[in-house]
Formats: sequence, C-alpha cells, structure tokens
Amino acid sequence: MDHFQYRDGVLHAEDVPLPAIAEAVGTPVYVYSEATLRRHARVFREALSAVDRTHFAFAVKSNPNLAVLRVLRDEGFGADVVSIGEARRALAAGMPAADIVFSGVGKTDDELAEAVEAGIGQFNLESEEEGVELARIAHARGLVATAALRVNPDVDAGTHDKISTGKADNKFGVPFHEAPAIFTRLAALPGMNLRGLAVHIGSQISDLAPSRAAFAKMGGLMRDLRAAGHAITHMDLGGGLGVPYRAGEELPTPADYGAMVAEVTADWDVTVMFEPGRVITGNSGVLVSRVVRVKRGANHPFVVVDAAMNDLARPAMYDAWHDVVAVLPTGGKTTANVVGPICESSDTFAKNREMDAVATGDLVAFRTAGAYGATMANTYNSRPLVPEVLVCCDRYAVVASRIDPATILAAEQVPDWL
Ligand SMILES: *Cc1c(COP(=O)(O)O)cnc(C)c1O
Repeated sequence: MDHFQYRDGVLHAEDVPLPAIAEAVGTPVYVYSEATLRRHARVFREALSAVDRTHFAFAVKSNPNLAVLRVLRDEGFGADVVSIGEARRALAAGMPAADIVFSGVGKTDDELAEAVEAGIGQFNLESEEEGVELARIAHARGLVATAALRVNPDVDAGTHDKISTGKADNKFGVPFHEAPAIFTRLAALPGMNLRGLAVHIGSQISDLAPSRAAFAKMGGLMRDLRAAGHAITHMDLGGGLGVPYRAGEELPTPADYGAMVAEVTADWDVTVMFEPGRVITGNSGVLVSRVVRVKRGANHPFVVVDAAMNDLARPAMYDAWHDVVAVLPTGGKTTANVVGPICESSDTFAKNREMDAVATGDLVAFRTAGAYGATMANTYNSRPLVPEVLVCCDRYAVVASRIDPATILAAEQVPDWL
C-alpha cells in the first residue's frame, strides 16, 4: 500500500496534488511519500517480530537521499552501505556508526581505514584477502574490526541476471565449501572480531524458495562453525525481497518472508540482521514527468516525455516495467510507446503500452520509482540531474535540488595547451 492516490481526479502524494509540485519545482522530479516510507519500515519490522533479536540495516544504495535516510533513522533502522560515500551519508543522517554494515566487493584500504576509525558496526567481508587487509588496518590502529564473512551459497534467486548475486559464478562472497577454512583463518587474526556470516542472493526476489534454501544452508554452516569452537552471534540475511511493479502483480509479502525467516532461524540463537532496500523505498516514490509531444509512430504513437533513461535507468538497464499513469486522467485510453528525449533507442520506458490517453503538456507519473531511481541518475546528453521532493501530509520540501548542466560544465577545464 502507498500514499499516491487519486482525489477528485488528480493524483496526489499524501495530501499534496502532484501538479502543485510539478509547477513549483519543474519536471522531471522524483516525489517521495514520508508516510509510505514509515509504513514500509514498520510493516517490515513487524513481519520479523517473531524473531528474538533483530537488526535492520536499510540498503542505502536503493535510495541514498539524506532526508530518506533521516526518516529511516527515525524508524530505528541502521544502514547497509557499499562505499565510504554511502557510509558518510548514513552518518550525516544521524545513524549511529555501530548500526552501519559495510558491504561491497571492492572496499579500498582508504575506505576500510576511514570506516574502522569511524567505528562502523560490521564489515561484511567479501573475500579472505579483504579480511586480512581489514585486520591489518584495524590492528595497526590499536582497534578491533567487527566482521561477518559473506558466503556465496550457490543458489539461483530466480531474478534478472543483472541483479542476481548468489550463484557460484557471481562476484560476491566466498565459495560455500571454502567458507569454514577461511573463517577459521580470519578469526585468528589480531584486529579481527569475526562474529558471523552474511548472505544476499539478489534483488527483486519474487519466490521465497531460493531464499529459504540459502538461509538453511547458512544455518548448517553456522552449526559446523560452532561445532569447531567459533562463537557465532550474528547472521546477516541480506535484502532482496521484491515489490509489485504492475497493478495486480502477486508477490510474497513481508509477512510471508517473515514467517519463512522465523521458521528457518527458530533455533539459531543469534541476532538476525536484515538489509532491505527496495521493499522499503520502491513504492514510496514516483517520477513525475511532462509530455513534450506526442509523435505519430509506425504502429502506435510515441509519447515523448521530459524524463529519460538518465533520470530512471531501470527500464533501459533491466528491461524493468514501471506503470505509467496520467496525473489528471481524462478517462480515455490509448496504446502507445513512452520514450524519453535521449539519443538511444534504449531510452524507452514502455512499448505498446495500454495506458491513459495523454496530450502535449500533460503530466504523467512513473510509479514504484522510489528504489534504484534517482540514485542511478546521471547527466547523459548534458541533461540536468533530477531533483527530489519529500511529501509529509500537506507539506513538501525539495530534498535534492536540480543540478543544472551549467554546474557540471563549470567543473570542466580546457587544458592550457589548447
Ligand atoms: C543491493 C543490496 C541489498 C538491498 O537489496 P534490495 O533488493 O534493494 O532489498 C542488500 N544487501 C546487499 C549486500 C546489497 O548489495
């Protein structure tokens, strides 16, 4: 459930009509609903309430906006970060360092050092080499780094190839059969407090069976490590739960996921950690765009909008579906292609799509754009960086300004030999 609803024929974000934001801020613009963010955070936490000890680390990469992070901090969430830049954001939003998990396959020595000094709560190690480096960096500073070993369970999450992370040939984690030996070697290093295991098999997961299989495998590994004398106090089950992108699409709910996790982890006696991203932010945002013109096509018209693949990359990158709706629907329907102005055929949001009839100047909204939307935006074709707005009841605020191409141009120089 989200708080983007029609009232008197106008699409609203909570109590704010979207045309008011489009007028004041311009288009394209991302609009987030604070009530939806809070609701999703609470629903997810509630779904895991049968698990004794839990820790929730919001996956910052899904939506790193400072105001979004502040809302989630308010909801008691820590952060899962994959770069020092994301760690700085989480800290800037007021999240305690101890509540931050540092994931990512290519953490540099500089990043590890800064994170160790900041007191980051847990490093999810992606390789033995990284663990050795982390222990050396911490020990040299008279510190001890707390860590978990990320294991690749060799389970196919059944999602899009580009967002699948738990198969043996994916770059993430250490191979399952090597994990006990690597764990034993790393746990013995000075500067290292290796307290658990981590797993994350992919994103937009629509079937719980692969997750259940992966978690069960991790439980077995945990028991083997305990039998070998290791103290395992934390198990990080990652993120990945999918959200419906199409009206009427049926996916496992947080409650289904929670019941599965509670069952698999019932006798684990650990703090179970979660890294949800999309399930918190996905339905909390829309991308509002204006129709530049409607152009005749060979089969169907092209609805050319002022948003493009640089603002919302998911359709071009993952063939992702976003519902496109008129902000002020007339009741008429059409079949059309929705495209952006960028000079690439991949700049296509929808093909042969049955949708609301729209005309030049009309506003449209791309739904479920709160996750992996603005965070992937760029300035390709010398377009501005898209702004973001947060709505709370009848108030709204710009939480990321539009960055003009002139600002980008000002950061470039012609060398003196030209
Ligand atoms: C991307 C990612 C997540 C979040 O994935 P969602 O599908 O957005 O829930 C969690 N953990 C790790 C390690 C990730 O890379």
